[in-house]
Amino acid sequence: MMSDLTKGRCLCGAVTYEFEGKPNWTAHCHCDSCRRNTSAPMTSFLGVDRDKIRFTGEETKTYESSPGVRRHFCGTCGSPVAYDADTYVHEIHFYLAALVNGGVKVCHWGGAKVGQFV
Ligand SMILES: [Zn+2]
Repeated sequence: MMSDLTKGRCLCGAVTYEFEGKPNWTAHCHCDSCRRNTSAPMTSFLGVDRDKIRFTGEETKTYESSPGVRRHFCGTCGSPVAYDADTYVHEIHFYLAALVNGGVKVCHWGGAKVGQFV
């Protein structure tokens, strides 16, 4: 049986993570905070249950971008790694562009249907 392990990493490879199975959802976000965090017109996220995630490299640094919201990034290369908020008790949101493998379809944030992980 094929493994459904999805992996991601930062630019330099110091921060690595992996999770089993499919994410709960995928979506684009272009809010002011995400645009500034990534220096891009938009970014794409996937929501993964905290209990499915394994961080396998160096520990991330965090920046509190809003009250109760933590942006995780690599302390070596500065790459954004994850969005983590008190309001999402059971999930961490990873930046889709940092995945090493796994094909994804993404819907627009607030779109009518949730994107499928394929
Ligand atoms: Zn790095």
